[in-house]
Amino acid sequence: MVSDAGEVKDIATAVNEVFDQLTELDSLWSESGPSGDIFKLNSNAGGSAYKVDKRTYSLLNRGIILQELTDGAFNQLLGPVTDLWGFHSGNPHLPNQWEIAQSLPLVKGNLIFTDNDCIISEKGMKIDIGGIGKGYSVDLAVENLISRGMKSGIIEAGGDLRTFGNPPDSDNWRIGIRHPRNLEEFYGVLEIGEGSVATSGDYQQFFESNGKRYHHIIDPKTGYPAKSCVSATVLTKTCLDADAVATAVFVMGPDKGIEWLDRFDEFEGLIIYYENNGELTHNISRGLNFDPETSIITLNSLYNSGE
Ligand code: AMP
Ligand code: MG
Repeated sequence: MVSDAGEVKDIATAVNEVFDQLTELDSLWSESGPSGDIFKLNSNAGGSAYKVDKRTYSLLNRGIILQELTDGAFNQLLGPVTDLWGFHSGNPHLPNQWEIAQSLPLVKGNLIFTDNDCIISEKGMKIDIGGIGKGYSVDLAVENLISRGMKSGIIEAGGDLRTFGNPPDSDNWRIGIRHPRNLEEFYGVLEIGEGSVATSGDYQQFFESNGKRYHHIIDPKTGYPAKSCVSATVLTKTCLDADAVATAVFVMGPDKGIEWLDRFDEFEGLIIYYENNGELTHNISRGLNFDPETSIITLNSLYNSGE
């Protein structure tokens, strides 16, 4: 982190305050903490309009836009289904087929946004911001640091990150993309200026049953873990968008996911998957170049990254 005056004391104070901010957001968006907005919205489903913190309003409002943009592959109302899989409660397990069938209609509803930061959710709905909350926390932390005079830095939360300014002595940040099967290695190294990078992978949270891997990224159409990707990394301006879109393109699959990214100048990405012959390989959006010699991934100058 580099501050205006380059003072180490300023930087330490700013970093501590950002940690406090992240702790506050954690309880604001906790599914179980009784004082938080998400807990209250879920408990209040089917009741009257509930006034939320402005940041919760912005988060869920953007979530609805991304839900529409990705044709429902990203769905922040997946709570009734993700609850059944138990990843959040620390007890992941295979649910009954009929339980999934019963819960699926509940994820097709919509939140209603009224004036004065109020939100109404219908009976049975349950918000799950697991695919988006981390990203927005990173954005808010970066805004906070910039407002305190920090000139450059990188904030990372659980694999999702955002850079601002330039690293010392270079124009580009180097971001390692984890190899999804050899977790100590990089699959590639992304070189970027200012931007956000998020990855959704089947190795992040999973369990095995009868030799089959069940992970935490759910296809909202089926209620089961999305099948065709191993990991999806997305590059765009805000970390909120990168987080949600990484989840969404993972659900779409390696071909449709890249087709989706290629429809927008402001999104780029890399999707790793298994070919039919069992070989691990990747598809990459047209705005990125993957050098097979060095595994360095750079922005293709023909396309704008949406800066
Ligand atoms: P991520 O690691 O960003 O891909 O987010 C995965 C988390 O988001 C899961 O643990 C769930 O809480 C939630 N989630 C799972 N599938 C989806 C989906 N299709 N759309 C939105 N959120 C999801
Ligand atoms: Mg995500």
